[in-house]
Amino acid sequence: MSKTAKRPYVVGNWKMHGLLSSLPAILDIDRAAACYIGVDVALALPFTLINPAAITVEHTAIGGQNCHAAHEGAFTGDISGRMLADCGAHFVLLGHSERRLGCGEDSATVRAKMQATLDDGLSAILCVGESTEQRAAGLAETSVQEQLLASLPDGLTSIGSITIAYEPIWAIGTGRIPQPAEIAAMHGALRQTLRDRLGPQAAAIRLLYGGSVNDDNAEALLAIPDVDGLLVGNASLDPRRFRAVVRAAQQASLQAS
Ligand code: PEP
Repeated sequence: MSKTAKRPYVVGNWKMHGLLSSLPAILDIDRAAACYIGVDVALALPFTLINPAAITVEHTAIGGQNCHAAHEGAFTGDISGRMLADCGAHFVLLGHSERRLGCGEDSATVRAKMQATLDDGLSAILCVGESTEQRAAGLAETSVQEQLLASLPDGLTSIGSITIAYEPIWAIGTGRIPQPAEIAAMHGALRQTLRDRLGPQAAAIRLLYGGSVNDDNAEALLAIPDVDGLLVGNASLDPRRFRAVVRAAQQASLQAS
């Protein structure tokens, strides 16, 4: 499907950054979301900011960066999707490489979390991406396709609630990004995998690119075939830079229409 059919989706991942004193910055981003109405804007925030942000913003979807696979129970220190929804979240980021690598989450765990998230009525942004070694060995596409398949719940029906973010591990926070042709090839491969698994309706799923996205490279990234939006880490912490990324998405959608 051409990108003309989909609204661009720009998601900021604040990771473990932000205090209550960051609410003005979140409001600043919300103003950009109000201004660039052709773009869906979202922020994946630390747990502590989800409710304060959700009751403050009007045009930005607020989400979490992780949740437990159970709805409730004896899991000290964890938060469920149901709890996130209860405090105003609309989506959860799942399978980020910082959780896969830093917290030992394998694809089976991510799959269980996705199922719980969708059951709780939230959307899910599923992150997948290859390591430096996998790319060097020529295994980037197959390893990411395998990761995608292993992370998707069986019998998926809520296609409209799913977004996939391709984030090469070696591009996150490094200032290095793949060549446009490499991103196009990966997104094409992910689209084909989704189509094989889910049928023609997979065409509607938005595929984001993430990894060292900023206000300088957003326009070029959004011009790549099958890039339906961007997942932005570090640059989303600066409202001025994030606003410029959202503006680039608005321009891309105007050019495509
Ligand atoms: C991320 O970790 O999701 C990310 C996109 O990070 P950065 O933009 O800082 O590379």
